[in-house]
Amino acid sequence: MANKKEVGAPASPKGKSASATTKASHSGQGMFDAVLSRLDMAFSKLNPSYNFQQIIKNPQKQVVVSLPVMMDNGKIEVFQGYRIIHSTALGPSKGGIRYAMDVDMDEVKALSAWMTFKCAIANIPYGGAKGGIQCDPKKLSLGELERLTRAYTAAMSDVFGVDKDIPAPDMGTSKREMAWIVDTYSKIHGIDAPGVVTGKPLTLGGSKGREAATGRGVMISCLEAMKKIGMNHKTATCAVQGFGNVGSSAARLLNAKGIKILAIGDHTANFYNAKGIDIEAALKYVKENGGVLKGFHGGESITGEQLLLADVDVLVPAAVQNVITAHIAENMKAKLVVEGANGPTVAEADPILFERKITVVPDILANGGGVTVSYFEWVQNKYGHYWSEDEVNSKHDANMANAFEKVWYNSQKFKTNLRTGAYVTALEKLEKAVEYRGNF
Ligand code: NAD
Repeated sequence: MANKKEVGAPASPKGKSASATTKASHSGQGMFDAVLSRLDMAFSKLNPSYNFQQIIKNPQKQVVVSLPVMMDNGKIEVFQGYRIIHSTALGPSKGGIRYAMDVDMDEVKALSAWMTFKCAIANIPYGGAKGGIQCDPKKLSLGELERLTRAYTAAMSDVFGVDKDIPAPDMGTSKREMAWIVDTYSKIHGIDAPGVVTGKPLTLGGSKGREAATGRGVMISCLEAMKKIGMNHKTATCAVQGFGNVGSSAARLLNAKGIKILAIGDHTANFYNAKGIDIEAALKYVKENGGVLKGFHGGESITGEQLLLADVDVLVPAAVQNVITAHIAENMKAKLVVEGANGPTVAEADPILFERKITVVPDILANGGGVTVSYFEWVQNKYGHYWSEDEVNSKHDANMANAFEKVWYNSQKFKTNLRTGAYVTALEKLEKAVEYRGNF
């Protein structure tokens, strides 16, 4: 059995993150502090009520569990698992589960808040949550991963629920883990509950189009932004950081629209090719080489920093947080950044990018395609009726374009960058919901 500790929302007098172990980012700021400083910026434009500000700055529920797992060597190892529900004002909470060594309360708290804002912007009836386990999934055997995932699901079996809290994949997890979650949850509750998790394999009630949905949303928001700033996608060039689920799908789909991908990279290697990387070849290479780019021969080898500063029109950070620092923002050559990853830009880089007239499509808008198709999956599970890939994609594309338009409108109205425009779009909706619900 796992040890569980539930903590209510820890409100500190200034509404600052109460985490004692706030993780330092490249800016010296914790991730949840970065959320709060973006919120403050949006509050200064929107001037929402004091009561709403207090509520939205503090996650509703934070759960920490210790998960004893029998390793293949016969010894027990105990892992820390987290689930944070930031808000259920707009519906059941929704958010992925991340397996990574640097997962902690501060990171999960920030990610859970971004889910709240992302769902509000995408106009889907969900609140926000996030989960994670501190582990290195690449060092675990398949059996260890399964036991860990089932232990986490059992520990969270009263937190998750089809109309309560619905996880999905994130960094380090995929349909494989989602299948174990739905199986464990269904067995514990004695029901078939496919809608308790999204991003499942198709045979277990997954949705067509879900796997590539986040990358597809990046592609749609990139094209929408290009229309607004007068950039021609048929002649544009791009660099993509991260070649996992989001980065590889985004690179493939942007490439299919005529955008030349000059640089790609992951945590093992980075490559540049002035003639354009052969993305199909890179996808094939990664599939056959343990999911990583190391050893790929489709371009000259460059550093991660060279990728971020490459002479391209568009930069797509689709890997980890805090990579676009003030230094990168000052020296970046791209004119458009489309954030596939969550939190790739530190708060202090925002004004630099704005000053340099670099358009940034923020994470809470640009990577909302994943949760949008997760919502479609959940709807299909509830109906027990499944849509074609074309149906999913066309509903997704229309939804993303709509969300982009609303955010663009607010950024113009409030004379601000798209990030603050996105926060304002989310907060306007959330404030109404919180007000209607009242305090209980
Ligand atoms: P993934 O695990 O499939 O891939 C992560 C990629 O990032 C890998 O290619 C990895 O090598 C690379 N990477 C890791 N550390 C790196 C580093 N220091 N420098 C360069 N590359 C590095 O994860 P994913 O699902 O593609 O998620 C990527 C980002 O997108 C995360 O921020 C995640 O929260 C966000 N996101 C994912 C989804 C989704 O549906 N999967 C939805 C919304 C947002």
